[in-house]
Formats: sequence, C-alpha cells, structure tokens
Amino acid sequence: MTTKRQQSLINQIIIDKNVIIILRKEVFMKTIKDFDLKGKTVIIRADLNVPIENGKIMDDFRIKQSIKTIEYAITNGANVVIMSHLGKVKEESDKVKYTLRPVAKRIEELINEKVTFVPFTRGGELEKAIKENKIVLMENTRFEDLNGKLESNNDYELGKYWASLGDLFINDAFGTSHRAHASNLGISSNIESGIGFLMENELKTINNALKKPKRPFVVILGGAKVSDKIGVIENLVKKADYILIGGGMAFTFIKAFGFSVGSSLVDNDNIEFCKRILDEYPEKIILPIDVIKAKTKNDEGIECFINEIKEDEIGFDIGPRTIKLFKQYLLESKTIIWNGPVGMFEVKQFSNGTRKLCEILSKIDALKIAGGGDTAAAINEFGYTSAFSHISTGGGATLVLLEGKKLVGLKAIKWNF
Ligand code: AMP
Repeated sequence: MTTKRQQSLINQIIIDKNVIIILRKEVFMKTIKDFDLKGKTVIIRADLNVPIENGKIMDDFRIKQSIKTIEYAITNGANVVIMSHLGKVKEESDKVKYTLRPVAKRIEELINEKVTFVPFTRGGELEKAIKENKIVLMENTRFEDLNGKLESNNDYELGKYWASLGDLFINDAFGTSHRAHASNLGISSNIESGIGFLMENELKTINNALKKPKRPFVVILGGAKVSDKIGVIENLVKKADYILIGGGMAFTFIKAFGFSVGSSLVDNDNIEFCKRILDEYPEKIILPIDVIKAKTKNDEGIECFINEIKEDEIGFDIGPRTIKLFKQYLLESKTIIWNGPVGMFEVKQFSNGTRKLCEILSKIDALKIAGGGDTAAAINEFGYTSAFSHISTGGGATLVLLEGKKLVGLKAIKWNF
C-alpha cells in the first residue's frame, strides 16, 4: 500500500529511454485545485474590504479579484460560505457603515448567481442559510470585534465555530494574511485548508520577482513614513540594483543627507537608520533632486531644488528633474516593484509625480509589480491599471513579503507534498 506521499513521488518519475528523469512537481501550499470539492461546503475567506460610501461601492477591484476562486468552487460542485472583514469595527454604530450587504449584490452581478446575504456572524439563522443555499455571504467578520476583539485577536473558540460551518477552508484574502485573525489562522487551525487563486497569484508573483529578478531590478518606494518601510529597505537594498525614493519618506533621507527640509514630513526617530543606509549603499539609493513645495496643501505648488526648502515650506511632490532622473533608472530595468505614491497624489497640484511615474512605467517593457492600497488607488485613478503586470490587493501583506518574511495568517495551511 503506497502512502499519499509516496504516490506523489512516483507521479514525478517518468521513465524515458532508460533514463529516469525526476520531474520536481512544484511544491507549494495546498491550493483549491488540490481538493475534491464535489458536495462539499467550502468556506472562502475573501478580502472584500472595499470603500463603500452611503451603500455605494466606490472601487470593486478586490471583489473582482476574488471572483475566480468563488466561481471555481461552484463550478466544481461545492456550496460556498464567503467570509470577509470590512473596515475597522469599533462601536455598535459602525455596523451600519461596515455591513457587507452591498458587496453581496455586487458578487451576485459578477457571477450571475444568487448570493444569500446573512446579517449575522454566528447562530441558527446563519447555519440554516448555509444548509439551504449554494452561495452565502456572511456579515463582516469584524462585527465579532465588538465582543472583545474576538476576530482580530484570533479567539480560538470563534475560529473553531466558523470552521464547523464547512468541510474545507480556502484562504483567498491576501490583504489580511499578515495578520493572525480568527477568520484566517483560526479557521485553518481547525479544518483542512488551502489557498485560492488570488492568494496563489499574489504569493507567486511577488516571491518569484524577489527570488529571481531579471536585472536591472529597480524598487520605487514612496508613501508617508519611513518607519513602515524599514524592513523593506533592509531586505531590498541587498537584492535590488537601485531604490528610488519619493513621497513623504524621502525627506527623512534628505535630512539624513544633511539638507534642511523645512516643515516637510520627517521621521526623526529614523534619521540614523537613513544615514546608515546612505553610507552603506550610496550608489543604490536614489533621492529626489527637486520637489514641489508649498506652505500648506491648499496652496499652489512651487518647484525648487531640494536645498531650497524654507523653514515654513513643505515638500509635497517630486519635481520634474527628479522625474527625469527616475526615468533614467527605470528605462533599462527588467523588474520593477513599486510601493507608495511619490507625492500627495490625492491633491491635484501635488499629483504630477505619481501620475508621470505611471505614464513612464506604462511605456517600459518589464515585470511591473505595484503594491499598497494608495499606490493601487493612484494607478486606478490615473487610468494605468492595465499597464502593470500585477497590482497587489494587499498593502501590509505586500510589505511583509517585500521584507522577506512569512505571512502569519497562512501558518496553518499545509503544503502539497
Ligand atoms: P503610505 O500609506 O505610507 O503608503 O502613504 C501614502 C500617503 O502618503 C498618501 O496619502 C500620500 O498623500 C502621502 N504622501 C506622499 N507624499 C507625501 C509628501 N511629500 N508629504 C506628505 N504626504 C505624502
């Protein structure tokens, strides 16, 4: 009697012209394709955390990205229970703002099948709906945070209860996979589990780019704070050929370089870190040479070199010479990873740097990966979504991968040996 493990090795051996070739089957986390779904109730943890204003979904990117796994499960004979968080639920009144009800409608439109929305996160009505319907969307998992942060603190009993609602768990919520919550780690610790297509695609695309980047490999980092990206800089500065730094975080580097940055965003606790990185990798870190400055974000922007920012002025965007400089590094590159807008892109007069960067990237033939909620929002707003090879649905989770670390929410998922 061969064990499952032995059989999988046998499957990898092909006898060809008396030569035994051992084909290494890809060893990866179990995915939805590794399971027989027929007749099963599959719990799918999706990331349906989308902006909703007055019941209207403002951006359905994450919902659309989640559909493939849901459709695959249904097509292969499963009933599905979809779970997701939405926003941060801190008080009872947040329940109105953060209900997943509008999302159920949107999924219904996208898959053209009835989706039964259950306005509870536990109890008889939920259990009955699961028994009687093919597709159920459960209410926001974070409603359980009102009873003592049960979801966000990965309460054991809650994870076990949610696991009891199905036969198999598929984690497709990349955006929360850097957190240990009851709806990811909790469920997967209690039931057979795998990952969905979105998660597989995110992990493979980002990890492969980091493992074997085609060179030159250029990283663009922006956003507000250096502190969020210390681990990323530490890891990527060793792997990348260049790191182009823009956004608010550039000013901590510029200050560390010895220039006065006026009233721009500065992370004083990390000046020493920036100094060390600049000393150790002077040829790899590329900083802005000019900026668009103003006294407040409501004023007109003025172009200036980085040594011309006065005490009461703030740098809000990279300037045209920096855009040209960054372009020189990007033109030849074969792998580009971008995380964080290079300016305050939400404000029209400071959006040019981020917009121009999108335009430059759209003309470059390279593997182009963008991550982070704001970066994805900017790319979307400026109409360059199709110019990228991959736009990650996760912010924090992408940063954890870029730091070269493991995602804690996936810890209990077994591998396909
Ligand atoms: P993060 O969440 O760290 O990726 O930061 C994104 C935010 O950084 C966006 O809301 C941008 O408006 C903001 N940002 C980018 N550049 C600047 C800047 N120079 N000054 C202030 N905020 C900025």
